[in-house]
Amino acid sequence: MNLNVMIKPPLSLTKLTASSLTFHCKFSKTNMHSSFSARARATPTVQNVPELTPEEMERVCEQTFQRYTSVSGLAKRKGKGVAIVWFRNDLRVLDNEALFRAWVSSEAILPVYCVDPTLFGTTHFFGMPKTGALRAQFIIESLTDLKRNLVKRGLDLMIQHGKPEEIIPSLAKAFKAHTVYAHKETCSEEVKVEKMVTRNLLEFVPPISGELGNEPRSTNATKLELIWGGTMYHIDDLPFDCESLPDVYTQFRKSVESKSRIRNCIRLPASLGPPPEVGEWGCVPQVTELGLQSEKVSKGMKFMGGESAALGRVHDYFWKKDLLKVYKVTRNGMLGPDYSTKFSPWLASGCLSPRFIYEEVKRYEKERQSNDSTYWVLFELIWRDYFRFLSIKQGNLLFHAGGPRKVDINWSQDQTMFDAWRRGQTGYPLIDANMKELASTGFMSNRGRQIVCSFLVRDMGIDWRMGAEWFETCLLDYDPCSNYGNWTYGAGVGNDPREDRYFSIPKQAQNYDPEGEFVAYWLPELRALPREKRHSPGMMYLKPIVALKHGYTKKTGDSKMAFASRRAKPEDNRRKGQGDRRTY
Ligand SMILES: Cc1cc2nc3c(=O)[nH]c(=O)nc-3n(C[C@H](O)[C@H](O)[C@H](O)COP(=O)(O)OP(=O)(O)OC[C@H]3O[C@@H](n4cnc5c(N)ncnc54)[C@H](O)[C@@H]3O)c2cc1C
Repeated sequence: MNLNVMIKPPLSLTKLTASSLTFHCKFSKTNMHSSFSARARATPTVQNVPELTPEEMERVCEQTFQRYTSVSGLAKRKGKGVAIVWFRNDLRVLDNEALFRAWVSSEAILPVYCVDPTLFGTTHFFGMPKTGALRAQFIIESLTDLKRNLVKRGLDLMIQHGKPEEIIPSLAKAFKAHTVYAHKETCSEEVKVEKMVTRNLLEFVPPISGELGNEPRSTNATKLELIWGGTMYHIDDLPFDCESLPDVYTQFRKSVESKSRIRNCIRLPASLGPPPEVGEWGCVPQVTELGLQSEKVSKGMKFMGGESAALGRVHDYFWKKDLLKVYKVTRNGMLGPDYSTKFSPWLASGCLSPRFIYEEVKRYEKERQSNDSTYWVLFELIWRDYFRFLSIKQGNLLFHAGGPRKVDINWSQDQTMFDAWRRGQTGYPLIDANMKELASTGFMSNRGRQIVCSFLVRDMGIDWRMGAEWFETCLLDYDPCSNYGNWTYGAGVGNDPREDRYFSIPKQAQNYDPEGEFVAYWLPELRALPREKRHSPGMMYLKPIVALKHGYTKKTGDSKMAFASRRAKPEDNRRKGQGDRRTY
């Protein structure tokens, strides 16, 4: 990373105000982007994602586990001694190859999670909190659920506070483990930890059976086995090395779709026990033990962490609400849980396997219907894979100001302007509403992310890394590959051939929030205005902090919008051809 950049003092995580008025979104086929009924508006409730009762969730989870439990005789346990499973961003049981390999190779598995203080430090360049309270809460819920699901299979989860590079080798020593299994990560901070764990494991050499003492014999050291497991396509099945990954997404997609196949989910036996004898398993921490102030979602979506909730959401979205068949039409929405899958927080923490989603899409296509929408979820998951593989090719260029293309841009780091953006006080309702949603819930739609990113870098001229680090703090679904990959694209420094993608606020407002319902929800002071004024409230709202580069009429020069045709069809910017500047 570029260490010549001055590290700024930490920003305090200002708690943004959230109105007590909340809604209950109703899906309607007539206007899927913005619709929710009058009754729904009046219901003052936070929307749980998934929207299932605990009993329903438990049932779905049990049924899914049952479907994915191997029938007897399929998997044989032939190992000896103890194997450790070091859980990282793979907080699940279903389709967990590390867990499976540990089971096969041992007589006893020790599952471990390290509450790493580094994850609760500050971001690299601008000193923002690395993990905000809402994501911390999501992880805590995920750990609680993982522990419960492991107990159901005859194991448990050991929770230790400290650095993995210290904890894992010392546990390997204490339990004389022959192997530590973990999932492989790709970005430098995570890879550095893997290297330190490997190095420290070498210092401990367990005795071979029958031998006393532990004289150093490097060939017999506890091994760290890193397993690929976070993408839909396995890295070993790509038709190219990551170093020669295509620079254009479409080329990547077409190539994997035609030449690679997606592996089946790993099936685990019903019982994974016994664990070795453990004195103290440790407790799942509270948010306050992580140096964070507990935050409650009081408006908008409340995501529940954990694999059970993840499986519940897949059931809720695909099967119960039957929304997969309309995903392609609704996915650009901004309001409520149901315009898109909302799988990302569980994918990022590894509570959900993308291969499981693939298998569920295929099952849905067989049992219900197959159309553009069912395919499109896979299309988006290939984007996720692509950013993961790109992070290997690009290395730390992903985090540099100039990005993978090493573009030299003189970004501003104006703190006042940046704070206005992050707090949702820019004077542009569409930006402010999205930023308030992010701070209040830890989520923002893909459409919203593209718009606020374009505004920050193109209208405000602010260093894109400040925006990316704020997303890193806040997002429940933060993942370095997707976050920095998308930000480099948005800032025009990624290896995206479309160099200058400008999202015009008036156009975006017209296409994706034509009734102003989204902005009125997050900025209730706008609800009293007529719908057509909600995106251009003039004196009724904050004064715009900057003039827009494009998108307002020259004639009026004020907040009158230069909307494109009311009937303009939202374009899929990802499928556009190449060009210099495009306004969306
Ligand atoms: C500036 C910016 C930053 C982003 N940061 C992240 C991030 O840190 N983590 C993250 O998971 N996504 C990130 N995204 C991608 C995308 O916005 C989210 O994945 C999506 O909004 C999650 O909502 P969903 O699960 O309902 O998505 P859906 O529309 O239902 O899509 C299904 C899945 O496909 C994947 N996906 C969809 N779009 C993208 C994309 N553009 N890039 C990568 N994967 C995609 C996600 O895993 C998602 O869960 C970012 C996008 C932008 C523009």
